Amino acid sequence: MTEQTRMNFKELEVWFVTGAQLLYGGDAVVKVDAHSNEMVKGLNESGKLPVKVVYKGTVNSGVEIADVFRAATNEEKCIGVITWMHTFSPAKMWIHGLKDYKKPLLHLHTQFNKQIPWSEIDMDFMNLNQSAHGDREFGYILSRMRKNRKVVAGHWSDSNVQDRIAVWMRVAAAWADAQDMRIIRFGDQMNNVAVTDGDKVEAELRLGYHVDYFPIGDLVAYQDKVSETDIDDMVATYEKEYAIADSCKKGNANHNQVREAAREEIALRRFLKEKNAKAFTTNFDALHGLNQLPGLACQRLMAEGYGFGAEGDWKTAALCRTFWVMSQGLPGGCSFLEDYTYHFDGEKSAILQAHMLEVCPLIAGEKPRLDVFPLGIGGKADPARLIFTAHEGSGVAATIVDMGNRFRMIVNDVKVIKQPAPMPKLPVASALWIPQPTLEIGASAWILAGGTHHTAFSYALTSEYMEDYSDMADIELICINKNTTIGEFKKELRYNDLYYMLNRALQAYS
Ligand code: MN
Repeated sequence: MTEQTRMNFKELEVWFVTGAQLLYGGDAVVKVDAHSNEMVKGLNESGKLPVKVVYKGTVNSGVEIADVFRAATNEEKCIGVITWMHTFSPAKMWIHGLKDYKKPLLHLHTQFNKQIPWSEIDMDFMNLNQSAHGDREFGYILSRMRKNRKVVAGHWSDSNVQDRIAVWMRVAAAWADAQDMRIIRFGDQMNNVAVTDGDKVEAELRLGYHVDYFPIGDLVAYQDKVSETDIDDMVATYEKEYAIADSCKKGNANHNQVREAAREEIALRRFLKEKNAKAFTTNFDALHGLNQLPGLACQRLMAEGYGFGAEGDWKTAALCRTFWVMSQGLPGGCSFLEDYTYHFDGEKSAILQAHMLEVCPLIAGEKPRLDVFPLGIGGKADPARLIFTAHEGSGVAATIVDMGNRFRMIVNDVKVIKQPAPMPKLPVASALWIPQPTLEIGASAWILAGGTHHTAFSYALTSEYMEDYSDMADIELICINKNTTIGEFKKELRYNDLYYMLNRALQAYS
């Protein structure tokens, strides 16, 4: 794995800030501090959280609150703040601190004590364990300020509570990763395609990432510097990791095409590394000087964490990278995919997901086979590709589209099923899934929402991740799942149109 693709959760921090005040005396604050320390220790030792929680002490005044949020903003390692009001913390004190704070925020609505000590409870206990009302005061000011945040309610030792914090941490890490994400595009969008295009200025303002164009000739220059020894080593890696088709083995007809694919992969990896890029797009119309459409290279780079989008689809490239970061270390895998063709079969009606070549082997259900076949599109020599089918399981497919006045994220829960038969004449990697609740409703809703034919897919993630992401980005979120009905879905789209029109007006006046 390269330096650029690594997003090491171990190097990140989430800060924990406890709200209090001096009304109840110094002794109370000392206890609040001790309880907070114990909670943070418990959270860190739970083994559930991917990022370390760092306790930043109690804050008892507006000055202390502003100071801690300013420090959180300036500390690069800090990807977000968790707040909790152990006692009552008058929320006017929080206004200045929160006003300029832009990183993710999680409001942990918990209580140090798990159960009421019925025979012991007295006023001293009540002066301490006040989050039931203290957190409501804090919630008010965030709502009044229209601040997006995640609210996680429940006892801090509860594993469901810790799981929800873990989700938010993973999303916050991916959000931080996106703020300096550079996406390289070789070629433009595929001519005349609308849905994969959009406003790159707004994307940088809203979503953080930056999209740069490079002519394919720049990559060709890198390709020309790849040595035969480099290619030998790369081919040896392929032999170790994949089942190699006979025709691709040394001395056989397609071996040279595998070597050319290796040359492209080495050049592309070096290029992305030197340009400090985390994602890239290709276009089959812009291949001058390349031997073949890079297929194998895209597949392997995706598995390393580089986001990918075909035909110039930079939004999906960014989302694929974000999915990869969010799901690091979780079982499952993620990939770029395309709604390819339908299989109508009653309750098992499903969508075949594939692409010409570029599907990530992290979702493979078996050892991928490396083979070479002709490709009609692109007008180049026969490309190498990994062929496999994705394993069964639940996952999410998501996309982001530009609605003109905002970005809309569309998420569909999907169920990957076993392919009923092999496809010997379609030599591509693929998945077969049923969009929830059914193909008919899932596909209708997706189309009504204006969703792309390209998606980022993951087995490890759920719509909860997408909810946290869209809150951090402050973009529209549309979920299609087992509860979706078309009538209600249409209303949601209409209400959202109204909301985003009015919201923009509100922002202009606030
Ligand atoms: Mn495509």
